[in-house]
Amino acid sequence: MTEIEQQELLDKGILLPLMEEFYSLQGEGHHTGRASYFIRIGGCDVGCHWCDVKESWNAKLHPPTEVDKIVENVVKYKANTVVITGGEPLMWNLDYITKELKKRNITIHIETSGSHPISGDLDWICLSPKKQSLPLEPIYKVANELKVIIHNSSDFKFAVEQAEKVSDSCNLYLQPEWSQMEKMVPKIVDFILENPEWQASMQTHKYMNIP
Ligand code: SF4
Repeated sequence: MTEIEQQELLDKGILLPLMEEFYSLQGEGHHTGRASYFIRIGGCDVGCHWCDVKESWNAKLHPPTEVDKIVENVVKYKANTVVITGGEPLMWNLDYITKELKKRNITIHIETSGSHPISGDLDWICLSPKKQSLPLEPIYKVANELKVIIHNSSDFKFAVEQAEKVSDSCNLYLQPEWSQMEKMVPKIVDFILENPEWQASMQTHKYMNIP
């Protein structure tokens, strides 16, 4: 296949730069503890300095993979939930992968910064906004879950600003950035006691030592 042909298939979402895929439990947010098949797509241009998957950033390091093969792998497992994550998965066209998963009655969740246009048929959108590359406006109203990472105290103000943009039914979560856990957890607890519309999200998979 020539490079041009490969790029065409990437543009159509028939190939995606797959970083890894695995079956595990969702560790964070609203669906914590749910058996899910994770599809991690390479490529991210957001550049969070505390990112724990920096190896995802350069999409070229991750092989363009046939979506049909990925879908074949999903259905080998019992769970009917797929989590599409990254990287920033909305850098890619998700129309084809979500159409194929839907044909097999799979529920599709996405974890995104919202910094690229939405594509695909998504059942649950976890929006995790980042200050340096804010979400595009349309995603706020369709987000099911707003998950703000708390790295320092100024992130609370950012969280409140972001919460003003989502719908009333959107679930609100504050999640301590892993390296700042000890410092930020007490502040998150205090904040939620004063603002009970928020809930805490912890990276429980790191405690369970699962991917
Ligand atoms: Fe890492 Fe996510 Fe930030 Fe991208 S948006 S740099 S993948 S934490």
